[in-house]
Amino acid sequence: MSQPGAPSRRVGMSTQKTPSTARMQVLVVGAGYAGATAAVRLAGRARNRVDVTVVNPRPRFVNRLRLHQIAMGRAVPAPALRDLLGAGVTLVEGTVAELDPDAGRATVTGPEGVRDLAVDRVVIAAGSTTTVPVPGAGHVHAVGDLESAHRLRPAFAALPAGAQVSVVGGGFTGLETVAELAETRPDVAVRLVTSGEVGGWFTPDGRAHVRETLDGLGVALIGGTRVRAVERDRLLLEGGHVVPSDLTVWCGGFAAPPLARQAGIAVDERGAVLTDGTLRSLSHPAVLAVGDAGHAPSPGGDRYSMSCQYAFPSAAHAADLLRAEALGLPDAGAPLDLGFTARVVSLGRRHAVLQPTTKEDVARGRAWTGRAAVLAKNVQVRGTARAVGVERRLPGVVRWPHAERAARAVRGEPAA
Ligand SMILES: Cc1cc2nc3c(=O)[nH]c(=O)nc-3n(C[C@H](O)[C@H](O)[C@H](O)COP(=O)(O)OP(=O)(O)OC[C@H]3O[C@@H](n4cnc5c(N)ncnc54)[C@H](O)[C@@H]3O)c2cc1C
Repeated sequence: MSQPGAPSRRVGMSTQKTPSTARMQVLVVGAGYAGATAAVRLAGRARNRVDVTVVNPRPRFVNRLRLHQIAMGRAVPAPALRDLLGAGVTLVEGTVAELDPDAGRATVTGPEGVRDLAVDRVVIAAGSTTTVPVPGAGHVHAVGDLESAHRLRPAFAALPAGAQVSVVGGGFTGLETVAELAETRPDVAVRLVTSGEVGGWFTPDGRAHVRETLDGLGVALIGGTRVRAVERDRLLLEGGHVVPSDLTVWCGGFAAPPLARQAGIAVDERGAVLTDGTLRSLSHPAVLAVGDAGHAPSPGGDRYSMSCQYAFPSAAHAADLLRAEALGLPDAGAPLDLGFTARVVSLGRRHAVLQPTTKEDVARGRAWTGRAAVLAKNVQVRGTARAVGVERRLPGVVRWPHAERAARAVRGEPAA
């Protein structure tokens, strides 16, 4: 048996069941929503057959849904990961710098230096970070990770009244961020620049609410236009247009960290690990990928959206699969069956939109606004941070709408 953190026993990873006397050594890369959930669920449900080690660069949990609020100076709880994960999981502070799936080895760099871990299975839960595919990336700020949010905070606070601020990207993160910026500093000029229609993902009433709310917050909307380059004090748009921008926050795209690609694991164009429906890597079956870092086929035909709605179920599913494998149970080959039901997007502190979706995550029906939507958003952002602790105390508690159940729910039919 290899000890997590001990000099590596260089075993090859395979999908064969671990010998009955050996405990399966599972490495979880990253302790965001997905990694932390996978770790506590697996440790809680297969403690006698599995050793779970989590590697994360920081000792505290980051509630990523609130990074744009952290950037605005709002206090957001950051529980110690050691407490959150509990005694059943070994936490190593550091970064998995290299993975060698064929040799069953991971190299970790951290405050205690460089060390090799011997592993039988790897769960890649490394999330995603902001990508800027245009010239001028050095001029942009972001809210995709904690360090970026910490950099944005003083830069935004230091802007003089009347400064020009741009948020690029009209996805959920861009909408939430632009509203938060405008609400926090009504004395600066905030604009949203996006290649699509502003709020175009929502159904018409949801879209109208998004636009009216942003308008009420004084946000200038530039839709249907791509940013071609970012300069220190302006954006260059397609068609030769130029807009002044003293501070630019890029929310225009996210990609997985390079770890999997560098390890020779098959990934998509955004660096996410290509998996089958069971969440096993297509190229390295001893590797599973969950949350933003994984690309599994979804009912809609593409990958599941990068979201908490995917991070928690995929993590729980991967944990259950590894437990089944370690215990020799038959359901180790079951594919994830997940259907979406709704999305909730905040627009500052006083507004939100709760948008029902099809199971494939396409907006449908009447959008909810007003206090009900704000309440739903508050429940979501606080609930996601608490969910890991709940899962640790009650392993197996994270459940999700299966595709057929979700389809019935969105059609308003009773559960079968
Ligand atoms: C501002 C903002 C608002 C958002 N709002 C919503 C929302 O309202 N609803 C929603 O569903 N989604 C939202 N999202 C998206 C959501 O946050 C992600 O889908 C979710 O965080 C994915 O969870 P994860 O565990 O896969 O990744 P993460 O939460 O990103 O966690 C990944 C962890 O892995 C660590 N890591 C990375 N590389 C390594 C390595 N090599 N070694 C060790 N550790 C590593 C990272 O540091 C991090 O701690 C938002 C995102 C942002 C940025």
